[in-house]
Amino acid sequence: MTNLIKSLKQDVRFANDILFLAANAPYYLIFKTTNYCWYKCPHCCEKSGPNNEKTYIPQETIFEILTQAKQDPKFINEVVFTGGEIFSAYKFGDKQYIQNILRFAIDNKIGVDIKTNAGWANTSFGKEIFDDLRKIITETRTNKLEFPKLQISLSLDNYHTNCFKNNFKIIQELAGLPVLIHLSSFVGQEELVAKFEKQLSKKLKTYELVAFGQNSKKSYTGINEQMLYYSSFATLFDGGRAAKIPGAYNTEYPQFTFIQPDGNRLLKLVAFDNFGRVTLGENSGRKIMTPYIDEYKKTKTLPQIFKDLNSAALKEVLYFIYYDRIFNSLSK
Ligand code: SF4
Repeated sequence: MTNLIKSLKQDVRFANDILFLAANAPYYLIFKTTNYCWYKCPHCCEKSGPNNEKTYIPQETIFEILTQAKQDPKFINEVVFTGGEIFSAYKFGDKQYIQNILRFAIDNKIGVDIKTNAGWANTSFGKEIFDDLRKIITETRTNKLEFPKLQISLSLDNYHTNCFKNNFKIIQELAGLPVLIHLSSFVGQEELVAKFEKQLSKKLKTYELVAFGQNSKKSYTGINEQMLYYSSFATLFDGGRAAKIPGAYNTEYPQFTFIQPDGNRLLKLVAFDNFGRVTLGENSGRKIMTPYIDEYKKTKTLPQIFKDLNSAALKEVLYFIYYDRIFNSLSK
């Protein structure tokens, strides 16, 4: 019993820290714009696929949330646009959606990361996407010396169909432009990335660079003058379809790791999806989540969304402590 009380005290302290950070930590925004994807990868934590709705978070909703966030000193001025597969909008005839949201964010001086499965790179509509991306990258550039405003995140792993060929095509088409390319893979698949990078350095002019930030320095590969490239390796969580992959990291309980250290800062991510829900933190396990659409089908204000998220965080923390720690310990 003494041990249980001791560990409970620790849990309560931990819970207090989480709730404090949930309410006060600076944040960046993610828009999971659609749940449609032309692939159905076995590791997809979003359970995206070709049979899901071909609908997208309306651009007006994104503009409204970003505009409010710009007034909030806790917003770190960074946004991620992802899916499902966001570039599928082109496939279904909407050629403006991506251009509009990218330009809106960049014009408002928000750093943008757009994530794609690259499956469009070698398709008939790929050329149109490349043309639009080239225009956005060059037209939104104001100063030749500034760091790229747009990051394109690609995935290279054993799950994404044709990712080697499609990612290569994207880098080749955009090489020479001031854009940041992030290649993400999974721990244990380092060889695949090494092979890809070897191919890059054979076909394109690459060189090593170090960029100094306020409190950090980061290494990049420069490609054909202005493109910057880096890679990273993530842990595979057992959310969504990944639950069936042996070795996927177990996340039965809420992910309190939504606070990510960034240099000397603690950050949280706030993710809006196409089902009208907003989540604090990672994709996996139980979610700290609330609707961002009210009963009148209107988007809630950002302060209201944060108030609701903080209540959701409190509920999850209580569930975690009282159900998992106490109930489960006593019933063993
Ligand atoms: S992991 Fe990405 S590419 Fe694969 S199904 Fe999910 S959204 Fe689509």
